[in-house]
Amino acid sequence: MAQSSLLGYPRIGRKRELKRAVERYWSGKNSEQDVVNTASEIRKAAWGIQNKHGIDQIPVNDFSYYDHVLDTICLMGIVPERYNFNSSKVDIDTYFAMARGAAGKSNDADCSCGNPASHSSVSALELTKWFDTNYHYLVPEFDAGTPKLASDKPFVEFDEAKKELGKAPKPVLVGPVTLILLGKSHTKPLAEHLADLLPIYAEILSKLKDAGAEWVQIDEPTLVEDRTDEERSLYQQAYAGLASQSNRPKIMLQTYFESLNGNWDTAVGLPVEGLGLDFVRNDENREALKKNGFPQDKVLGAGVVNGRNVWRSNLNDKLTLLEEIAQTVDKDRMWVQPSSSLLHLPHDLDLEEKLDQDVKNILAFAQERLEEIRVLTKGLNEGRNAVKAELDANQKIFDQAMKSTRIYNAQAQERVASVTEADFSRNSPFRERIARQQAVLKLPEYPTTTIGSFPQTKEVRSMRAKWKKGSISDQEYWNFMRERTKEVIKQQEDIGLDVLAHGEFERTDMVEFFAEKLEGMAVTEHAWVQSYGSRCVRPPIVYGDVYRPEPMTVDMIAFAQQQTDKPMKGMLTGPVTILNWSFEREDIPPYQTANQIALALLDEVTDLQKAGIRVIQVDEPALREGLPLRSRKREEYLDWSVRSFRLATSTGVDDETQIHTHMCYAEFNEIIAAIEALDADVISVENSRSHAELLQAFTDHKYERHIGPGVYDVHSAQVPNTEDMVEMLQRSSKVLPEEQIWVNPDCGLKTRGNEEVWPSLKNMVDAAKEIRARQPVGAD
Ligand code: GLN
Ligand code: ZN
Repeated sequence: MAQSSLLGYPRIGRKRELKRAVERYWSGKNSEQDVVNTASEIRKAAWGIQNKHGIDQIPVNDFSYYDHVLDTICLMGIVPERYNFNSSKVDIDTYFAMARGAAGKSNDADCSCGNPASHSSVSALELTKWFDTNYHYLVPEFDAGTPKLASDKPFVEFDEAKKELGKAPKPVLVGPVTLILLGKSHTKPLAEHLADLLPIYAEILSKLKDAGAEWVQIDEPTLVEDRTDEERSLYQQAYAGLASQSNRPKIMLQTYFESLNGNWDTAVGLPVEGLGLDFVRNDENREALKKNGFPQDKVLGAGVVNGRNVWRSNLNDKLTLLEEIAQTVDKDRMWVQPSSSLLHLPHDLDLEEKLDQDVKNILAFAQERLEEIRVLTKGLNEGRNAVKAELDANQKIFDQAMKSTRIYNAQAQERVASVTEADFSRNSPFRERIARQQAVLKLPEYPTTTIGSFPQTKEVRSMRAKWKKGSISDQEYWNFMRERTKEVIKQQEDIGLDVLAHGEFERTDMVEFFAEKLEGMAVTEHAWVQSYGSRCVRPPIVYGDVYRPEPMTVDMIAFAQQQTDKPMKGMLTGPVTILNWSFEREDIPPYQTANQIALALLDEVTDLQKAGIRVIQVDEPALREGLPLRSRKREEYLDWSVRSFRLATSTGVDDETQIHTHMCYAEFNEIIAAIEALDADVISVENSRSHAELLQAFTDHKYERHIGPGVYDVHSAQVPNTEDMVEMLQRSSKVLPEEQIWVNPDCGLKTRGNEEVWPSLKNMVDAAKEIRARQPVGAD
């Protein structure tokens, strides 16, 4: 009999109870016990619902107060010196200090910069993206002393679940090799770090065995990335070591997010009792299995339903896949499971009351996946007839969806199909365009601007909350927003910025704002997914063909332009970012959706142009993070993402209209050709934290277009001084011609306070004035 299994369940709570509990704890309004109690209730609910759906292998230790990699850091006792940790177990305050810094700022919760650790004045562990998801983990530091077991979390949760369920759950651990490869500040060869960790892992396995664990799931998702031979040998070292330990549970080595590909032989050859594979991301594992077979002595964890995307599974197709796998692997040695932890899915669909029924029908969140796993396991074990009713009902939903005009829009499809090569290029080359733009805009050297948003004060937030609740009228709300916009324009004029922004007060989130207005995209009420710590995001869902029923930003931007003679930037979110920060369709390739979004944006760009807007910024902060995990797949991704940006900014866009884009990072070396290929007239980028890196990219690669390397870090509360910014500009001018350089902060100002923003911008404008007045660099 095949078993059903889960890799992990959402842990923030159905209504984000954990978020509230820990945030109250941080602000001193909750006791540690309150947090412990909330956490325990969340775990109980998760185990209860899995049990109810008959899941055989229920995970434990998948829960976390903040992050499961941080939990593993504590488990291994690798706490960096700066946290002054010197007891036997990591306490909750040390734990949160590592997560947030000892004096974290409180208004960082909405920042979309992806680098929230930098908001704190005391240094937290670095936060970075978990593979290609929107989840972020804390980076282990391997110069933090000798590992020792310094947490009893897995044992406590194991006992708790065992008591609750009346059977042994399956503890989940981040594997030793993945922990090392995701870490930094290594002080010796990785094999030696691994040798330090293995005794701790062995101790944990032995304790779990004593507590009654039959299986343990050890996650090694780094096995799905490109690995060197040396790295591959780490897995052999690790699992030969752990396997030789006699007192231990059986090991399910779990991979996810991609196929094993070149690491197939390594993974399959490891002396463990089970191997978990992702059969959703692509067909590569499926084909490898057919070609290579599978060891007779191992259990195969067959990840057949999507742990990362929200579409209901077609159960007929999934069952076919399972039956095919069962031709290679005996059913008794199969686990039916999701492709990854369900951490990356919203909790459950029942909470969504406003979603269109056509859309709701085709969705499955974490809770709905449980039923899919139940049906599939039963179908595999007992035959299709045993689940006939479920299969038929499921098929009917898919048949109906095919007919939905909300999902399939003939016009949008025709439009995207009729795009020709010419639609991806502007009328004239950059050199000619920039001369025409300059004739219209008449900007000084080193023009100054901002990235777009200005502080979203308490007042702005509370007005929006009132409006959403219906306690103020549309008119009151928009009057208020216009007043704020007017004010911020006046302030920008007063300090002497050259290209102004309207402030984005009417936008909560740069993707949600557009998703609300585009057809084919839906926003949810409660579909929260953990991004990092207590921060959750509610990604919109692209459920069908995307098009723009009416202008989205033109009224506001035109109003803003009327307030000033200076150029006002139209402000849009780019197609790749809208797509990457949403749940995407599975029935068409992502490039098609990107192009549909691009065409909707193109209409907006040309409407803005018609309304007299001469500078239009199309933000693409998520371009880089969409890079596939496997390097050989990157070129294709960059190709279609660049094309979708160009599609949004070319046809009908006059040479005189200046297209800007913005990205919140400076790691450009790998993608600089793609950045250039965007053909944006001006790009503003993060730079203040990674100045050297950025400049290196431009030293190695001659860049022709205009660029604003951020002159100060918006994530720091400090007001930057003029001299530092002048110096930064001078350094930039050594690798870039002066006429290409713009002066701007490195990201939006939304999460900052007005008290810092205005003095900072004033100093920035002064820096531009000063450098304009100086002799060109290199002249004596
Ligand atoms: N225009 C956006 C802002 O200023 C850009 C946000 C971002 O880079 N993530 O807020
Ligand atoms: Zn940014």
